[in-house]
Amino acid sequence: MNDGIASNTEFRPSRWGRLSADEHAGIQMEKLRDLLIYAHKNSPFYRRRFHDAGFNPEQVKATEDLLERAPFINKTVLMDEQAKKPPFGDLLTVAQEDLVRLYYSPGPLLIIFSHADLNAYIQRAANGLYHAGARAGDIVNISFNYNWVGAGTQHDDAYRRIGCAVLPGGAGMSETHIDLMKLTRTTVLSAFPTYAIRLAETAKKMGLDPARDLNLRLIIIVGEIRSDEDKKQIGDLFGAQVREMYVGNEMGFVGSECPHGGGMHLFSDTLVEVIDPRTGRRVDPGQPGEIVTTDLHRRAMPIINYRTGDITEGLIYEECPCGLKRPRMKRILGRVGDIPRVKGMFIPPRRIELVLGKYQDLGRYQAVVDRPEKTDRFTIKIECPPARQKDDFRKTLIENFKVSLGILPEVQWLQPGTIAEDDRTLMDLRKIN
Ligand SMILES: [Zn+2]
Repeated sequence: MNDGIASNTEFRPSRWGRLSADEHAGIQMEKLRDLLIYAHKNSPFYRRRFHDAGFNPEQVKATEDLLERAPFINKTVLMDEQAKKPPFGDLLTVAQEDLVRLYYSPGPLLIIFSHADLNAYIQRAANGLYHAGARAGDIVNISFNYNWVGAGTQHDDAYRRIGCAVLPGGAGMSETHIDLMKLTRTTVLSAFPTYAIRLAETAKKMGLDPARDLNLRLIIIVGEIRSDEDKKQIGDLFGAQVREMYVGNEMGFVGSECPHGGGMHLFSDTLVEVIDPRTGRRVDPGQPGEIVTTDLHRRAMPIINYRTGDITEGLIYEECPCGLKRPRMKRILGRVGDIPRVKGMFIPPRRIELVLGKYQDLGRYQAVVDRPEKTDRFTIKIECPPARQKDDFRKTLIENFKVSLGILPEVQWLQPGTIAEDDRTLMDLRKIN
């Protein structure tokens, strides 16, 4: 098995992105059927949950049936199961001697991998990084944590499988990151968006211009809520392309952007659904909602119908100029519970801040959702200097919010200093019904 150490043979990306939607659905359905039969037979945890939900794996005739019929799991369910019978609960389906990796996710939750699981997992990540633009010959610095969690070691293995040379930077020690990226003429950086910005600031403090004095051409960002503006800022700071990947401790690698950007192509080995978090039903194609994933390959601890808690803006089905046929996932807006939904639109606070950020004289804001009659009302209260509290300005802001949020809020003026620093910026006062 290739354990991530680059061999002399050139890395070949899988054909997952070249298959038609029908071909792809057929392959995913075959893998899903095998997974469900396997989990039912070998996992006391899934057998119990399937039984309790009245779900029979034989009922799944198409991948869409899984969402309609099988029970959901989420991080809490997995944590509770392991806590009942440490360390693995009834989640482990293989003999302990078949395990090669235990990753820790804060909770605690242990994510368990067999040899075959990890091999396929790294191959998937390598495919994603390859499509994002990483190539043999690149020198890669990884600024993710290498301890306990998967981020550092998984990216490390995946880049080396492509044939890149990896600098295992790890988390922290920003000045050393800059020194070594300069010394080695590092071409690719993997980082959380906020850490990429911090590295640029560190370089500047060291008297360097990160765009001129470093050699980065590609930055792979993972995690956190981000906007096009944030992405452009990172790219401009380093004079590099910025591409996003969607990956989580529990669900693994789900998608990555190609050099055209504009959404993360979904990988083949993960079944992805987007649901309305209130009802658990699939949303209409392209609509925003919570991401649900099934890992079609992992066996030691299967992940089936997993509610991630992440809200995406939706899937894009139009073909991408890069030629990959897999749908693209738009960016992650935030977490379920943190983002209210008003008149069908999710309202991430970041979107409100981007509009208000254009006007330096505005103070704090507070967004309030309530339902005084039978429809939702969305009001943004804004601290504004009295001289600016004009109807024309209110109209301009409302127009900007309409573009940014997709709905028309009411705007109320507040005197500067009315909102305390620790007041909540978003209040959802509707009764859950
Ligand atoms: Zn593409």
